Amino acid sequence: MSAGNHYGEEETQSHMTKKCPYCNTYLPLRATKCNVCKKRVGRVDKLGFAAKPFDWSGYLVAIFFILALCVFIWWGFFRE
Ligand SMILES: [Zn+2]
Repeated sequence: MSAGNHYGEEETQSHMTKKCPYCNTYLPLRATKCNVCKKRVGRVDKLGFAAKPFDWSGYLVAIFFILALCVFIWWGFFRE
């Protein structure tokens, strides 16, 4: 039994290409890396630009500090 076509599974956008947000090069939709400036790129957005992927190491540190601050505030003010 063959898998057949999967409509709407992945790319529902009308774009056939995405643009590198760093150097405006047109890239294939499935590209994960710009072949001109070598930067990582994400999925295409509504405007046809590739998303800039998160810098997880920096974000994780920031999220950790925000969570720690929330816990600290909760612990200090809202705990019965
Ligand atoms: Zn690029």
